[in-house]
Amino acid sequence: MLKFLKKKSVLRASAVAVLGLLLSGVSRGDEPYARSKDYDLQHSKIVLKFDVEQKKVLGDVTHTLTILKDGTEKIWFDSVGLTIQSVTVNKSAAKFESKETRLVVPLPSAAKAGTKYDVEIKYEGKPTKGLYFILPDEDYPDRSKQIWTQGESEDTRYYLPTYDYPNDRLTTETILTVPASWITVANGKLIGVSDAGSGNKTWTWRESVPSSTYLITVVAGEFDEVRDSWRGIPVTYYAPKGRGDRLKVNYSHTPQMLEFFSKRLGVDYPWEKYSQAMVDDFVAGGMENSSATTNTSTSLTHEKLAHEYATGEDPLIAHELGHQWFGDLVTCKDWGNIWLNEGFATFMERIWVEHNFPKEQIDYELWNDAKEWMENPGLYAKPLVRHDFDDSSEFDGNAYNKGGWVLLMLRHQLGEDNFYAGLKHYLEVNRGKNTVSADLAKAIEEATHINVDEFFSQWVYGAGAPKFDLSYTYDDAKRQILLKVKQTQKLEGRVGIFHVPVDVEITTASGAKTYPINVAKAEESYSLPADSAPLFVLFDKAGHLLKSAEFHKEKKEWIYQAKNAAELADRGDSVDALGKLKDDNEAIAALGDVLKTDKAWGIRAAAADALGSTKNPAAAKLLLDGLNSANEPWVRNRIVAALGNFKDNADAIARVNAVAREDSSYRARASALQALGKLKAPNALEALMDAVKADSPDAFLRNAALRATGELGDDKAVPTLREWAAPGKRIDTRQAAISSLARLDKNNKEITQQISGYLMEPHFPIRISSIFALGTRGDASAIPALEALLKSNDLSIEMAPMIKGQIARLKKEPAGAQAASQGGDKAEGDSAAVAKRLDRLEHMLQEMSDRLKAIEEKMPPKK
Ligand SMILES: [Zn+2]
Repeated sequence: MLKFLKKKSVLRASAVAVLGLLLSGVSRGDEPYARSKDYDLQHSKIVLKFDVEQKKVLGDVTHTLTILKDGTEKIWFDSVGLTIQSVTVNKSAAKFESKETRLVVPLPSAAKAGTKYDVEIKYEGKPTKGLYFILPDEDYPDRSKQIWTQGESEDTRYYLPTYDYPNDRLTTETILTVPASWITVANGKLIGVSDAGSGNKTWTWRESVPSSTYLITVVAGEFDEVRDSWRGIPVTYYAPKGRGDRLKVNYSHTPQMLEFFSKRLGVDYPWEKYSQAMVDDFVAGGMENSSATTNTSTSLTHEKLAHEYATGEDPLIAHELGHQWFGDLVTCKDWGNIWLNEGFATFMERIWVEHNFPKEQIDYELWNDAKEWMENPGLYAKPLVRHDFDDSSEFDGNAYNKGGWVLLMLRHQLGEDNFYAGLKHYLEVNRGKNTVSADLAKAIEEATHINVDEFFSQWVYGAGAPKFDLSYTYDDAKRQILLKVKQTQKLEGRVGIFHVPVDVEITTASGAKTYPINVAKAEESYSLPADSAPLFVLFDKAGHLLKSAEFHKEKKEWIYQAKNAAELADRGDSVDALGKLKDDNEAIAALGDVLKTDKAWGIRAAAADALGSTKNPAAAKLLLDGLNSANEPWVRNRIVAALGNFKDNADAIARVNAVAREDSSYRARASALQALGKLKAPNALEALMDAVKADSPDAFLRNAALRATGELGDDKAVPTLREWAAPGKRIDTRQAAISSLARLDKNNKEITQQISGYLMEPHFPIRISSIFALGTRGDASAIPALEALLKSNDLSIEMAPMIKGQIARLKKEPAGAQAASQGGDKAEGDSAAVAKRLDRLEHMLQEMSDRLKAIEEKMPPKK
């Protein structure tokens, strides 16, 4: 699953990591280890009806199961908040006991292993999780009606009494009775639709390939449908009614991905159909239910904006599709091995981007991703496989980003042929099974005869990554360089000294030569031939290793490398190094050259960031120049954002104003609005208010302008913000307005009251925005409202930790502690840092869930 839509690839690492950490966890940790089993659930016939008005599910499920242990006297199912009406065992009425989280059913007599039972359970409930009703209300009378489920990680039990842990697999038949005008989607093949009387129809779906119960899905409601196919398998897309025209724009690469993944893995897509249903207010970015993915409807990008993103929605689509092999066909045995799902899904995103877009795209994403991951101390200290996630979610930036990175690193070290032979074998021998990381290592070794135990020991069971300190000297007499390599990471916990293969490249006047070395010690020196003084030396050419490096080089070497290194990562490293020189004219000029001439957009954008961070007037001039020649929206927005660093610079302000009014790119215009707020330009309020009035696709610019008023800090914007925060306006527009209201006119209790009033709304994004806005406002009068929300029993997903964090913030408890500790970053434990962190998170939430897709919390703000 994607916990939240980590939009547009570039900076997703930290975002997902931090969000995952904040949003889950403290309320209840998932079970870290797989259960011992008394029975094997083999098939479930799930019959559901809905009382839409009451938001009730009326269920009748029949589980076919086989006893695994001699002498089993009772069996139990996970069941939370459901009213059980009756239970039969092999059609005879049975006793049962409903406990808080379990339904216990005594068997007629102690059973022998191998005995089969049919257990039928009739029940009803108003699920607080797991199954969601999205309905029109007085504020949004035109909303299309939607019911959808989200099982992962342990929420299926809130709408279906079942065995709710990944280490069992079953086939399903899902029978749904809904109003005749509705569409339904469930796992597997559509068997038929029949008239059910009283204006209803009954849909029957059957999934004949077994998978785990967290992958069960039900989507029903008023949807538009677009049908496609791949090798004769139905490929369908669903959008909330009225948005069907956005399906092709965003989702049309799906059949090509099915083909590419099937060929690349050597294992064909294993399910009977593939559907993607986009739903409103989804509690995650996407969810890979077997054969039937559910994604957030915010992935239905407006046609006029879609082309402004380098890879469109492809990363999300590829991620969830990739899970159909890694996650659904082969499933992690326990949540401690979740990286086998999420790391592989991230890997699948990456190889699609690599396959379908210019090479610079994947190169840039990996280079950037590694930096982000290295900068997150909470993630760094934890191994990929871990079972200690009571107070922090296992769905963290390690499971996703480090997991994906490690797989690509392994591919590089083994070579493509070996690596994919290993994956094919892993998928084949574990098809329909649950695995732990050792199963992957074993499969690779069986297929390739290459032992990968050390690799797994360092990168999967160990934590961290090498941090290098590097320098070299050239000896003219010996015609060689002496390269000094130190590993400087702190050796603590699971972090050790790394044993890694590294390519060193030495470029002299006569050309470049590469020398593979093995680094295995805390400190080592290598003598390598060089026929003359090197122009530049690269350590880990092309950046295949997850690492950080402080390479002590002279400025001229960095400048030469910036211009001449063949690989993106090496040019990127020199841009970063030059950016650190701040007021150095030569460095700034070199960055200006990179901004204008580098062939990779990511490096030009990184140069813009670096120039912006210098705040040097010469840099502003280069950025203004660079904007003239930059065509890609995803570069223009970064240059404009960088210009937001030059306060009191009349040229920069004038240009930012001009871009805000008109530009080829909506993203650049949104960046300009944000920059106007940041620059606190004399006319900023007027410009922002003008932008609020104007229409743009999906209110893209209005939202940006509303958000920018918070940064501007002018209380005159308050009436406008209060107007746009009100119920009935677009949800994403309201989020932008609420987020800025949090920061303005802080003594005005009416604003606090207004925002508090939104806490009980059924709209998930509004609730989150309001919770964080109240924390940011710092007005303790909001505490009772937040506490009341905490006590209400209809909290969707794990909102409790968020609410507690904001209450702690308002009480000025040093402890927003729960929230802070989830990052694992002890250094950030004090309250100021917590406040800052929460502030960043709040921004991130706003931005991820609305239309300003690429904005992230990191500085500079627009990447
Ligand atoms: Zn996922």
